[in-house]
Amino acid sequence: MPDEPKSNDSNPGNPDSDEDDWSTYASAGYAYSVVDTDEATEIVEPSEDEWFDGDDFEFQGSVINWDAPPCPAPLGIEHLIRIGSCDHCLQRLAGRRTAAQGAAGGAEIRSEARARNSELESLDKPDLCPLCEDLFDDVENIVIRIIDQTGEVDHSSIQLGIHMPKDLVEEEDRIRTRHGSPGSQPMKSAFVDAIQEVLLTHVNEVQFVKEKPDLMILIDGLTLRVSVDVRPVFLFGRYLKLERGIPQTRWPCRACRGRGDGCESCSETGLQYLDSVQDLIGEPLRIALDAEDTSFHGMGREDIDVRCLGRGRPFVMEIKRPQRRRTDLEEIQKAINLKAKDRVEINSLRWSDRAEVRRVKETRSEKSYTIRFRVEEMPEEDFVIESILGLSGVKLAQETPKRVSHRRAAKTRYRTVNSVSDVFVEGDEAQFTLQCEAGTYVKELVHSDEGRTIPSISSVLGGLDCEVLWLDVQEIHSE
Ligand SMILES: [Zn+2]
Ligand SMILES: [Zn+2]
Repeated sequence: MPDEPKSNDSNPGNPDSDEDDWSTYASAGYAYSVVDTDEATEIVEPSEDEWFDGDDFEFQGSVINWDAPPCPAPLGIEHLIRIGSCDHCLQRLAGRRTAAQGAAGGAEIRSEARARNSELESLDKPDLCPLCEDLFDDVENIVIRIIDQTGEVDHSSIQLGIHMPKDLVEEEDRIRTRHGSPGSQPMKSAFVDAIQEVLLTHVNEVQFVKEKPDLMILIDGLTLRVSVDVRPVFLFGRYLKLERGIPQTRWPCRACRGRGDGCESCSETGLQYLDSVQDLIGEPLRIALDAEDTSFHGMGREDIDVRCLGRGRPFVMEIKRPQRRRTDLEEIQKAINLKAKDRVEINSLRWSDRAEVRRVKETRSEKSYTIRFRVEEMPEEDFVIESILGLSGVKLAQETPKRVSHRRAAKTRYRTVNSVSDVFVEGDEAQFTLQCEAGTYVKELVHSDEGRTIPSISSVLGGLDCEVLWLDVQEIHSE
């Protein structure tokens, strides 16, 4: 069977910094250098020595007191004003209580400082705040972009992430730790707080979380690009496969590999088999949650020609990029079972999470199978029944079967047959049920795979050719 189709989720944490981004936002006033473009003005980061000789601030026309004490000392605040700190950063670093928060609080601090020292009034303002490069001016703009992209998407929690150029973060950290009040909030978290605060004035009932968000929103502090990652929804359930010939997961067409619009051999469906357990269950869910795609995680899988009965096989369905995150599970389970009647049936449907995907995929359970096989000439009935029952409790040695040897390493596995029951013979056919350890190759246990499985039904019947007619997973003994 082919591997599950690869997820085509893009990685929003790593937006392309192509030229388009730079030119689109060039008007935002960010003085960053762009490598490989003609328009770019290269900025050489000053070394430590250059930084502290005061050259950068010569335009101020006054000598900056680099030995100024840190905030909240008045001289420290004065220093921040002299180097051109914006109101946001002033409020953040000053360590003073202000009536207003944010920029308004910074304006209070600035006017107090000017009242103390009128020289501060006449200072030229640099183009950009040396701490944040005027990033805080873009908060409103970013919030509008966020709302544009999330307005239609059902969500109750958001995790905000921000990417900022390393040199800006380092520069800010250097100024803050030297001149800011002890415990001043770093720029990144202050910026995230500012965005959350403004966002909350536009939307209601959204929680900002540090893990498992409905929406992961990443902001590029350089390009102001906002990328929204709608996190998947997970559902746990158990499925029964009542009809043979249905693969567990979507199986792309062998000829065209499901690319593009398919091909002639798959009637333009891109699929080798029109139906799969994944789609029979997943499509109604995908449609109900208005999602892009699904990913199916089963507790193991049965071959396409094997039914799966009993309480069914546990699975977790991952619904990707859902526009809605809630639906009536009882209703949808009924609808799925009605539509896939006599083919696939589900039960125990409930909401789940990514952690359960791991649990389901890692669980190895004992299984019971019912198997029917045929021989050319059936031996004495009592002998057949006794021989098959005799396999109960036997440890099998199984070499990697021929049918899977192209994708599994050759080795010998030892698996125990825990019990054998319900053996009967009908003409040249026989049927039995067995319970065995997880990972037993059951078809091979019957026909021996040319002696690769020892012992086998074939060997205990005296080396007869045993042809497996059908196989059912009777029960998966989990939970
Ligand atoms: Zn600033
Ligand atoms: Zn095709």
